[in-house]
Amino acid sequence: MTMSSTEAGGERQVEKVVIIGSGPAAWTAAIYAARANLAPLVVEGLPSTEMIPGGQLMFTTEVENFPGFPEPVDGQELMHRMKAQAERYGTRVLSDDVVGVDFSSQPKRLSTAYSGEIWAEAVIVATGARANWLGLPNETRLARSGGGVSACAVCDGALPAFRNQVLVVVGGGDSAMTEAEHLTKYASQVVIVHRRDRLRASKILAERVLAHPKVRVEWNKVVVDILGEDFVTGVRLKDTRTGEESTLDCKGVFVAIGHTPNTAFLKGALALKPNGYIQVEPGTTRTSVPGVFGAGDVIDDRYRQAVTAAATGCMAALDAEQWLAEHGR
Ligand code: NAP
Repeated sequence: MTMSSTEAGGERQVEKVVIIGSGPAAWTAAIYAARANLAPLVVEGLPSTEMIPGGQLMFTTEVENFPGFPEPVDGQELMHRMKAQAERYGTRVLSDDVVGVDFSSQPKRLSTAYSGEIWAEAVIVATGARANWLGLPNETRLARSGGGVSACAVCDGALPAFRNQVLVVVGGGDSAMTEAEHLTKYASQVVIVHRRDRLRASKILAERVLAHPKVRVEWNKVVVDILGEDFVTGVRLKDTRTGEESTLDCKGVFVAIGHTPNTAFLKGALALKPNGYIQVEPGTTRTSVPGVFGAGDVIDDRYRQAVTAAATGCMAALDAEQWLAEHGR
């Protein structure tokens, strides 16, 4: 259901709620908004070399920690189910990218790559974040095929293939430390590969992780290749001081060199945190612009889980519904 309003040049359709994104936050927001009779329109994004509709879970083979699935569920299957559930209650889906926004007027205006402009009373931004990768060809191949390369230890660390194996974590920040610590539950040994001789991570966390008997660090090393046909068998390391190369045998590589929130298309239309994530009022999904809400990893630089993204998607739909009601829209 859309509303019409008249402006010079004729009628234009105004959506009640447009949701930008297609991960767990977006589909959960859509399920709630659809069931509240808001007839949401989801702009799900187009496939690119870095991201595909469905978000980061599309690169995850087995999800073992999403409640309700006692057997592991394939990440793509989970996303297809969430989308189908949203569509069942009347969500409409547009396969396009939002490339620009104008939140200065009401209704708000979204520019898409191919479908022209969309007008909306309320907008939920759920565009997620993408893990930063090293950019190695074998990294991409083995990450996409579920071959032992991952950017999320909490998601993938417990998989049987990683049990009692040597696992590598790349990075020296808090993420690398928390990933390494998590992996000590499963691995025989966790080797942190860091490109410098000092960690970026907070001291207290780093000290705890480095004191773990299963953890050791390869200092001043970068990963220049990931070895293995169907599954990881090792990494090729290069010493950043001497240039010397060596091979380290391992069964898994966890890349923890940071994430980048997908906020570039906002071009300053919403207040962001210094690290680029959307700023929301604590305990809500309200952004700096009334009627625009943030949900999922694009507002979350901490938990980054499918279930937490789904939770804030629910919150965003409820916040949007309340905002529309309060403003008589
Ligand atoms: P981060 O702090 O930016 O650290 C990224 C790490 O990856 C750095 O050590 C960096 O090396 C390394 N790195 C970056 N690009 C690389 C490359 N191409 N090759 C090799 N190494 C590379 O990112 P983060 O650890 O994801 O943390 C992001 C934010 O979330 C931080 O504010 C952090 O405090 C927070 N966080 C907090 C917790 C917690 O439990 N409190 C957990 C996770 C994240 P250099 O050090 O040489 O630059």
